[in-house]
Amino acid sequence: MQKCPQCGGEDCTHIVINLKEEDTVQFYACRRCEAKWWEHEGDTIALDEVLNLAAQSEVR
Ligand SMILES: [Zn+2]
Repeated sequence: MQKCPQCGGEDCTHIVINLKEEDTVQFYACRRCEAKWWEHEGDTIALDEVLNLAAQSEVR
């Protein structure tokens, strides 16, 4: 289970978003402090980067 980087809480909403076949972005939202963050390939990324990845996945 993912821990919140802000408050250390373990009660987080976790959503997996598929960008393309095996490329996913994980979205987490803490229920205690309402922190939100994204992860891609194990790294925390900014929303801007999520949008970049999403845009790339639509271009073929
Ligand atoms: Zn938190």
